[in-house]
Amino acid sequence: MLATDHDPIAAIATAAGRGGIGVVRVSFGGHRGEVVEAMIEAICGQPLTPRHAHYCGFRDARNAVLDRGIALYFTGPHSYTGEAVLELQAHGGPVIMQLLLQRCLDAGRAIGVRLAEPGEFTRRAFLNDKLDLAQAEAVADLIEASTEAAARSAGRSLDGAFSRLVHALVDDVINLRMLVEATLDFPEEEIDFLEAANARGKLAAIRASLERVLAEARQGALLREGMSVVLAGEPNVGKSSLLNALAGAELAIVTPIAGTTRDKVAQTIQIEGIPLHVIDTAGLRATDDEVERIGIARSWSEIERADVVLHLLDARTGMTAENVEIATRFPAGVPVLRVVNKIDLAGEHAEVVSNDAGEGVEVRLSARDGEGIDLLRAALLKIAGWQPGGEDVFLARERHLSALRAASGHLSIAHEHAEQRSESLDLFAEELRLAQDQLNSITGEFSSDDLLGVIFSRFCIGK
Ligand code: GDP
Ligand code: ZN
Repeated sequence: MLATDHDPIAAIATAAGRGGIGVVRVSFGGHRGEVVEAMIEAICGQPLTPRHAHYCGFRDARNAVLDRGIALYFTGPHSYTGEAVLELQAHGGPVIMQLLLQRCLDAGRAIGVRLAEPGEFTRRAFLNDKLDLAQAEAVADLIEASTEAAARSAGRSLDGAFSRLVHALVDDVINLRMLVEATLDFPEEEIDFLEAANARGKLAAIRASLERVLAEARQGALLREGMSVVLAGEPNVGKSSLLNALAGAELAIVTPIAGTTRDKVAQTIQIEGIPLHVIDTAGLRATDDEVERIGIARSWSEIERADVVLHLLDARTGMTAENVEIATRFPAGVPVLRVVNKIDLAGEHAEVVSNDAGEGVEVRLSARDGEGIDLLRAALLKIAGWQPGGEDVFLARERHLSALRAASGHLSIAHEHAEQRSESLDLFAEELRLAQDQLNSITGEFSSDDLLGVIFSRFCIGK
């Protein structure tokens, strides 16, 4: 905790701009009781009963009414932040909001009320145990959600769906640790311990649950982060047309002149709620044009960073020598899906071509007619690893996935130690402890000020 975590803070809690209602919020930090109530009375012109809605006039320093609205007073710990909180619901104009905020800062000068930093209200809520860290992150994710599926799953995380699963895992790890630690006190019984307490079976069960949580969290992270899809191929194969077809709108410039898409055009579209960041690139070909060459170099760096590359070909020419050359340059770790476009010109039907393993490797379609676009969407979802029917997905972040993966790694080492009977139980116990630390970092049981700083600074002000 930082020293400033006890300051009284104030901010406009609603979005900038005009709206029917706007909210100014004050959280009183270490202050409560009379000093707080005196300040509230000065602003509202009357004392407020905690947790009651009061309709009153909000006053400036000379007692002139600035606006009339609803004032709410919460005493700690029964508030969003866990501290004493004043909420002024006034009319949502930018000037009146600013005046009310300034009034709160002035009236609170004696106790040092200052402007809140981004995310500071939610940081307080976390520090005062109103929310755990995964829930606090869900607040920001709910505000930023770009699809309905993302919003619903952020709501589930905020409600604690993810945290409950993590807590259940931590409890199981703690129980196993207690068994091990108890045995450590009686070294002569070490050998029997693994047998008697069924430590191996317990560990296996924990690992299986962790893998399930990880699989669900991956879905949740996909909803939040989405996937980047790069359109690559020679000029004129129909990259821009395909982006338009996927997006269902005229976004990229489509022209019949080869080499027109020189700069990248990115567009976020959604398929079943999964955000796909589709990047249209300059056509890949040998060229003497300096500007075009820069565009092509940029295309390659987009390809390096992609989650999926769509390699576009023309149905009339197929996998030409130039395309074989392009394909050899694709980075090894990135999945590539061939998209054979313009099947209308070749008189073909849309279809998905699979390899021996049954994975779709090629989609034949027409970007112009929209034929086969549905097949491409389905193929993209499959590559993303999206499992349909994921109605109860909770939103997760990359940070959560890496903690779950790290915990899984420690449990797998613990498993190795358990298999090698000669190994000391100390090492087994230590890996369990490390796995527990990783799991705890998700909900923030052990978290550094640095981590908190990174997480909360990305919030908007007033949250
Ligand atoms: P890019 O250079 O790869 O981005 O290609 P564009 O999307 O700009 O398309 C080049 C030309 O091919 C345009 O005239 C498009 O109308 C045309 N085109 C794109 N897709 C199709 C298709 O599926 N069928 C037909 N007949 N023409 C297409
Ligand atoms: Zn283009």
